[in-house]
Amino acid sequence: MNEKNLFNASEIFGENVFNDKVMRERLPKKTYAKLKETIREGKDLDLETADVVAHEMKEWAIEKGATHFTHWFQPLTGVTAEKHDSFITSPLPTGETLMAFSGKELIKGEPDASSFPSGGLRATFEARGYTTWDCSSPAFVRIDESGGTLLIPTAFSAYTGEALDQKTPLLKSMEALDKEGVRLLHLLGMNDVKHVSPSVGVEQEYFLINRDKFQSRKDLVYTGRTLFGAMPPKGQEMDDHYFGTLKEHVAVFMKDVDKELWKLGVPAKTEHNEVAPGQHELAPIYEEANVATDHNQLIMETLRKVANRHGLQCLLHEKPFDGVNGSGKHNNWSIVTDTGVNLLDPGETPHNNIRFLLFLCCVLAAVDDHADLLRESAADVGNDHRLGGAEAPPAIISVFLGEQLGDVMDQLVSTGTATHSKKGTKVKTGVRALPDFMKDATDRNRTSPFAFTGNKFEFRMVGSEDSVGEPNVVLNTIMAEAIADACDYIEKADNVEDAVHDYIKLLAEKHQRIIFNGNGYSDEWVDEAEKRGLPNIQSMFEAIPALTADHNVSTFEKFKVFTKAELESRADIEYEQYAKKINIEARTMIDMVEKQFIPAAIAYERKVAETINAVKATGAGLTCDTQIEILKKIDKHIGEMSAARAVLADSLKELSFDNNHDSAEHFYKKVVPAMNALRKPVDELEMLVAKEDWPMPSYGDLLFEV
Ligand code: ADP
Ligand code: MG
Repeated sequence: MNEKNLFNASEIFGENVFNDKVMRERLPKKTYAKLKETIREGKDLDLETADVVAHEMKEWAIEKGATHFTHWFQPLTGVTAEKHDSFITSPLPTGETLMAFSGKELIKGEPDASSFPSGGLRATFEARGYTTWDCSSPAFVRIDESGGTLLIPTAFSAYTGEALDQKTPLLKSMEALDKEGVRLLHLLGMNDVKHVSPSVGVEQEYFLINRDKFQSRKDLVYTGRTLFGAMPPKGQEMDDHYFGTLKEHVAVFMKDVDKELWKLGVPAKTEHNEVAPGQHELAPIYEEANVATDHNQLIMETLRKVANRHGLQCLLHEKPFDGVNGSGKHNNWSIVTDTGVNLLDPGETPHNNIRFLLFLCCVLAAVDDHADLLRESAADVGNDHRLGGAEAPPAIISVFLGEQLGDVMDQLVSTGTATHSKKGTKVKTGVRALPDFMKDATDRNRTSPFAFTGNKFEFRMVGSEDSVGEPNVVLNTIMAEAIADACDYIEKADNVEDAVHDYIKLLAEKHQRIIFNGNGYSDEWVDEAEKRGLPNIQSMFEAIPALTADHNVSTFEKFKVFTKAELESRADIEYEQYAKKINIEARTMIDMVEKQFIPAAIAYERKVAETINAVKATGAGLTCDTQIEILKKIDKHIGEMSAARAVLADSLKELSFDNNHDSAEHFYKKVVPAMNALRKPVDELEMLVAKEDWPMPSYGDLLFEV
């Protein structure tokens, strides 16, 4: 029994967060009121208030054991960044030091921005960048082996004002959605609503493997995924892992993760095994989009850190193992009012819930008009291995509404009015001890990239390692646009009720092509989607242009989320990162082939050859047919491996491109195919060479030993 794991969760929840309770207790009433107002109204914090807040925050952090503070931000690298400063000030004449932290230090930081991607927005000599406190996301103290640090969630921008991070546009997109949402609700008579905001709950998938095994594989260490590896005899076909009983040490790990997250105020709720062996999922309770985005970053960091403490390695890559289910994130998204109404909640009878139908149709319009952009927001290098692979959603964006809402939409399109909603039916269990239960009016669909699940949409395409910042920026902005269009239409009409009715019908008709309730993994859907004119974007490289396509640029500019220059810079950064990541993978492959596989295969070939000679030398008249067969195969694959290695090495030689787009294109079209070609003979060899002679742990070792 580990006594450490018996504790009261409510007592530790948020204990390291400078949350509302702490602020109310510690800040002077006036300061507290001012800060709350700033948070609520999204205003700038004045320096006087900031000074008081900073002082109390510092005192509180020091009591927790913090020695340093850092602005914590999300540059466009996909991970978070920090620059630590200690609280100490220059020594007094007495030789002592005071601890200080000013309002200025709290609200503004100035990290040297030149080492973060800017996509040409900022020349290296103009290194200045600013971080500014996002006071709607609470500060917290992180405590680990290295001690305590006060982390202040911030936005990050260039000296000239352009956003260099995920958070700035996210906050802007939330403002746009707020403004247009309130506008529409006021038109509908909900005048008490002052704000609307997106709620987001992110389900996070990941793999756990043994850390020592991880470290003995260069591909995992350098790239986070296996670049080689033959399938084990057992994969996930038995479906015995999904929701299976947690092994005790995995359960201990998860408990530890929960505990760390709870202390940081992250409402970790659900932990379970996923489909693939070694695969798991963690889901927190949903929160406001910017906080949920910060918390997802903390979840990823915590998973990694705690895993190491347990002798494990957490793999967040989208596709760590070829042939085994990959990992994603499900971005659950809804819109709520400050009066507590979820605008995507259909209620019992969706057909006569006009407000719901209007918002629903706005979602359809938004997704249909910007499917390419939504697809782009889920693109990252690892996700290229997953989307469309009949394990994750296809690369085609469509919306799953399910039977009940699908039927309501059909009624709207065919007759202009929806008159009834299908009801859930009673499921008879047939077992006396079990009560009958009501079946949901709508089943689930695992194959849809954008599924309505009761009172929220679940964007299921996002990669497991990616920030959810971008997908939520896109969702909020395209929804703001669809709502604004609805307002424009309704404001022009004489009779609001009729206008709303007409507009719902108009959108239902116009955008019904985006609705698909069938099997998204099927080949028929690919053909059908093409007939409907829906984009089918296969790769990150092909997805990036959506960022700078006119219809998307104008939407972002209209709602002041991004300027054209910022979008161009983001596209540029994505091309650059694509090329960089593939380059590392390709070089790792070459390194492993040269230093590990060729020597191992040759040594084994020699072993077999010597065996053949020895057997023949016995004079017993043995022909060694099987051994000779094996020898020939090994020799053939060594030849293929060596030739494929040369092709890949050639594709990386003397590269020079005019821009990042061209470089990415080269990596996508030339390098990736050469990598795939090199993998084949190596995996064949792994099947032939004796286990003890193969220079790294196999898939079986990695997947079934945790
Ligand atoms: P499901 O069974 O549909 O996957 P869960 O209840 O397991 O739903 O929730 C999955 C994730 O969705 C969780 O993170 C949860 O907090 C989040 N979620 C639930 N309701 C909402 C909502 N209205 N808006 C946003 N996220 C939500
Ligand atoms: Mg789900």
